[in-house]
Amino acid sequence: MGEHHVPLQIDENNNVTKVGHDMGGSYEIKEAVQLELFPNDIYEDCILCGEKTTTLKTTHVDFRTGYIEGAGQLCRECYMKGSSEGREHISIPKHYIKTYSNDMELGAKIRQFYYENY
Ligand SMILES: [Zn+2]
Repeated sequence: MGEHHVPLQIDENNNVTKVGHDMGGSYEIKEAVQLELFPNDIYEDCILCGEKTTTLKTTHVDFRTGYIEGAGQLCRECYMKGSSEGREHISIPKHYIKTYSNDMELGAKIRQFYYENY
């Protein structure tokens, strides 16, 4: 015996309205059943443009493309936009902003932090 295929009639809202053939026992569905044909929330959103990416939320970060550590997932388009240099970031301690109120001093501290840590 092969597989049995049962045709589904699906309306524009992805509701299944009918199951089976017209001839031979079809079943009209009285209450709308939401059928998630293409569930969208299993994919990451792009942190830049907000579009759905093709990266599954369940994919480990080590196996992702376009994942920016400390920031999140980029879609392919956003990832390809920047040069590799444009995608490089550094993180500075948050307190630097308040601790060094003088912009020149802040700049010097950030530069120092960069050379010490990167
Ligand atoms: Zn994007």
